[in-house]
Amino acid sequence: MTLNATLIPGDGIGPDITDATLRLIDAAGVDIAWDRQLAGMAAVNAVSDPMPDATLDSIRRTRLALKGPLETPVGKGFRSINVALRKAFDLYANVRPAKSVIPGLRFTDVDIVLVRENTEGLYIGIENYIKIGDDERAAAQSVAVVTRYGAERIHRYAFDLAVRLGRKKVTLVHKANILKLSQGLFLDVGREIAKEYAGKVAVEERIVDACAMELVSKPERYDVIVTTNLFGDILSDLTSGLVGGLGLTPGANIGKEAAIFEAVHGTAPDIAGKGVANPTAVMLAACQMMDHVGKADVATRMRNAIEATLREQQTVTRDVGGTATTAEYTDAVIARL
Ligand code: NAD
Repeated sequence: MTLNATLIPGDGIGPDITDATLRLIDAAGVDIAWDRQLAGMAAVNAVSDPMPDATLDSIRRTRLALKGPLETPVGKGFRSINVALRKAFDLYANVRPAKSVIPGLRFTDVDIVLVRENTEGLYIGIENYIKIGDDERAAAQSVAVVTRYGAERIHRYAFDLAVRLGRKKVTLVHKANILKLSQGLFLDVGREIAKEYAGKVAVEERIVDACAMELVSKPERYDVIVTTNLFGDILSDLTSGLVGGLGLTPGANIGKEAAIFEAVHGTAPDIAGKGVANPTAVMLAACQMMDHVGKADVATRMRNAIEATLREQQTVTRDVGGTATTAEYTDAVIARL
């Protein structure tokens, strides 16, 4: 049966790594009718709109998208389209697994699934400047919003995921000692939800700073982590670093209406157009997508081929110690299928 899905190639290295991923999906024998759409800087250049209606309509129709990274201007210009897409489709759960595959790294037994609340917290977009005297920008404030509704559904998602994947423990990561109301509510709700899973999966709590320290000293003690938006954003880059870098970690943005699969990393402007980007993160995002649509067998085949190629270290890209181009690495993964 043909699957319908939206493809957003993205900016920077996006087109290269999504092309590589499409080749892998094709080789795995999955029939997908891709509706190619634009977003981010590519859309600004083509139609002067970073998030065109046609793209939103396409995702509304297919409810499934694979997305390359999108450029966001720093400190000015349009707001992040990644954040806007998550909001537009209420993609409340961001699932970012990090697993040791590359041999010879400092840690060899990391296997963490980080579940990040994706629609609230400090990323809700309530920000303003405060004028003092003549200075229009004398101060600035950003508001963090945590709702009981949002906290409940993300904790429930994390615990359900832990049970579904046969995981042993969920760590609630917070800063409720300082941000007593917003983080306090998040933690309280987490504790309530955890009770529903008593006997099925263990629960523990960590303050985010202590968690960051432990992640770089004893990461193997972590299993599933659930946390708020900003902490999840930062800690998931950290867990990427533990397993060999940003080129390796995927992220699924899941909601009731749609799901968007992407890499954790950005557009990598320093290597864009050079044909050397590592497509693994988007390939693994495609595996998450296959799991999501009930094609776990295909996801496993693709994952095994990717992991075997990485483990062997013969034909890998330079960010993980090799010399292969994006295309050569993709050929090697496909040969493994
Ligand atoms: P980045 O993730 O693009 O790059 C950080 C470093 O990691 C760079 O040295 C880069 O070369 C390397 N890297 C990243 N992906 C790689 C890959 N697949 N293979 C090899 N090396 C890789 O982060 P940045 O430079 O801070 O951000 C660049 C742009 O990306 C910004 O506009 C930012 O807003 C955007 N961004 C988008 C997303 C997204 O679309 N989900 C996520 C993060 C950043």
